Amino acid sequence: MAYIQCPDCGKAYVSQDEVALDVINTIIHKECPDKRNHLNIIDEGTFEEIVKRYPFFDESRLA
Ligand SMILES: [Zn+2]
Repeated sequence: MAYIQCPDCGKAYVSQDEVALDVINTIIHKECPDKRNHLNIIDEGTFEEIVKRYPFFDESRLA
């Protein structure tokens, strides 16, 4: 199974991680500083909330 990883720190997300979603549907940790140029954040919440809110994320990826 492929897990979604944070592009900043490279760690796979777990359900309760606080994350943000940007306009190109990239999930990033809220606590990870901008190590690259992120676009505008359009939503935020726990990883589980974001995956369930947007149908293009596969819920089977929830840890
Ligand atoms: Zn991170």
